[in-house]
Formats: sequence, C-alpha cells, structure tokens
Amino acid sequence: MKHGDLLSKALNNEDLLASELEYLISLEDDHSVEALLNAGHEGRIKWVGESTFFRGLIECSNICVKDCYYCGIRKSLHSTIRYEMDEEEIIKEAFWAYEQGYGSIVIQAGERQDDHFILMIDRVLKELHSRCGDSLGITLSLGEQLTSTYQRWRDSGAHRYLLRIETSNSELYQSLHPDDHEHDSRLSCLKDLKDLGFQVGTGIMAGLPGQNYQDLIGDILFMKNLDVDMVGLGPYIPHSETPLYSDTRPRLTESPDQSLTLGLKMVALTRLVLRDVNIAAATALQSLHPTGREQALKSGANVIMPNLTLTTFRSHYSLYENKPCVGEAADQCKGCLQSRVEHTGGKIAFHQRGDSPHYLKRMKTETSI
Ligand code: SAH
Repeated sequence: MKHGDLLSKALNNEDLLASELEYLISLEDDHSVEALLNAGHEGRIKWVGESTFFRGLIECSNICVKDCYYCGIRKSLHSTIRYEMDEEEIIKEAFWAYEQGYGSIVIQAGERQDDHFILMIDRVLKELHSRCGDSLGITLSLGEQLTSTYQRWRDSGAHRYLLRIETSNSELYQSLHPDDHEHDSRLSCLKDLKDLGFQVGTGIMAGLPGQNYQDLIGDILFMKNLDVDMVGLGPYIPHSETPLYSDTRPRLTESPDQSLTLGLKMVALTRLVLRDVNIAAATALQSLHPTGREQALKSGANVIMPNLTLTTFRSHYSLYENKPCVGEAADQCKGCLQSRVEHTGGKIAFHQRGDSPHYLKRMKTETSI
C-alpha cells in the first residue's frame, strides 16, 4: 500500500499495522514526510479541534535524586547550580498564569521523595485550589512517587500527571539509566496514576543512541495500549556533560534537522494512532529550530507550554543544551508564543482548561458502566 492510502486509512479511524507504521516513519523523501505531517495536522483538527491550549510551565526545582545518563539535572552533575522555588513564588507564578487566562499550568521538577518537598507541593495545590477552584487545570510532572503521595496530590487538587516512560523498550531503558532505575517501577507508577483518576500523560525521547524505528513504533503502540490521555514526546538532545554523550551506538538522527524531522514525524504518527489525546509541542523542538514548536502544532500537536519559571532560575533547569527562552520573563514568553502561534494560523483558547477529550470520553464510559 502507498503512503497516501495508509494515511487516508488512518484518518478514517482505521488501525494501522505495526509494519505499516514502521514503513511510514521510515519515509525520508520531502514529499512523503510533508504528506505525513499534513495528515497529523488533519487528524488533530478532526479529533481535537483547531484550538491550541497554553500550559504555563513552572520548573520549580532542579534538585534530583535520579541519575539518568542523558539528563543535565542528574544528581551527579555537580556543575549544575541547584535551586528550589519556595511555595509563595510558585503560587505567584501560577496565579499570574491564571489571571492571564491560561487555562492550565504544569509544575515540573527533578525527582524528590522527601517530606519537605511533598508537603510543599501539597500546600501549593491546596492554595491554588482554594483560589481558582477547578477552573485552573493543574498538571504535575514530578517523577516516580509512592501511591500515597500521588493520592495526596490528587486529593489536594492536581488534575493531571505527566510521567514519560522515556522508551517502551525495557532493555534500551536500562542502558540509559543506572541499575536502580527500573522500567517496571515507572510502569506501575503510570498504572497507579490511572487508577487514581488522573488524566495521565506519558511520552518518550526520539533519536536515542541504540533506538531504531521499531522501538519508536513500539512506543506509540505502548501509549495506545496504556490508553493514555496526554502525550509529551520530544527529540533527545545530547548534553555534553552527561554519560550518554559519549555513547557510540548508532542513532537514527545525526543533525539537528534530522532530529527535528523525526520528532515531527513522531507527533504526526502519534496523533494518527491515539487520535483524541492532547499532544504537547515539546520545548526541545525549539532548541533544534526557531519554529520547531509551531511546526509541531502543524503536525498534530495541540498544546504548547509557555515558560513561567523565574528568569533567575531558568538557565539552571538545563535538561539539555541550547534550551530556548532562558533569558525571557513570563510575560515576554506569553506575547512571543501567542504571536508565534497566531502567525502560523493557529488560535489559542484562553480561559479554558483544555482537558484531554480522550479523558472526558473515558470518564463517561467508565462511570456509565
Ligand atoms: N522529574 C520529572 C521531570 C523530568 S525532566 C520526571 O521524572 O518526570 C522532563 C523530561 O525531560 C524527561 O522525562 C526527559 O524525557 C526529558 N529530558 C531529559 N534530558 C533530556 C535530553 N538530554 N534531551 C531531551 N529531553 C530530555
């Protein structure tokens, strides 16, 4: 079957075989790639609509107990200057976003399981809930936690949780992390989050050393099987001070342009397979190309995350090198992103939470059983 037929089939709500998806992702000529990205956009309009939703991103701490081989805030990277926003600072930023009409915020940090941190987040959630009720959507992205911690945060007002599986290939996962970072623990966290009624998001990095097209299609099918509501996936960007930088396994992408294209192809295929989920235009795409995120919005993504992190801390949340917008204040990010999105013909939906349509449908079915 030709790629045009496969794309029409997918847009017609038909499931493609893994081999068909592998064929699509391996297409490299400009014409076929363009057709795939356009189909991703068409799917986005069909399944989740034209509106783009803002999620104000607060990277509230880069202190991390994990030691992931690819990450610039891993605990062994001693040159990273560590910071922690206090609860008043987080609340102030979040409330600013709310008043600007952002329907939702994301609170992200390095992973920590200490009581000081867990209780601080809990107080932030309670305060935001008392000020904004459920009209501000709150996503947490704070790594692996005990079920009781997830439960506590859910009870205090968090609606969504984002925990990337990083790769669904457990052997590849193990080669990217020390032995005490277990793929199975991440999986059980994702299951816990679903059981607790969160809107659950996961995602992966594309272009990792040792990763092939089969792995990437496996990732998309993994997300489909897990029945997630949100996806945040992006390109892997090597960080020169991390162990993975010197990994010699072959990569699917050698240049920033190739990484961008692979990231966009993944967005488009994820849209065509998962259909009615929310998909974020990853910030990492913008470090590869000035319009990387807007291109993702034209390839299937429908969510974008203006950075609200205080400018004094922003450069220290250095997951990868070349992170964009590190010198801008939150209000500059808003204006800049709004005009960038509108310039490409997109429309931002202010004053709406923009919940995942997939989640809303899932809740309806589950409660009517
Ligand atoms: N502690 C949280 C947040 C981690 S940072 C958690 O565990 O979920 C958020 C994401 O940044 C990670 O899940 C990872 O996918 C991504 N990331 C880290 N290093 C990266 C790199 N070098 N290139 C691209 N993305 C990276």
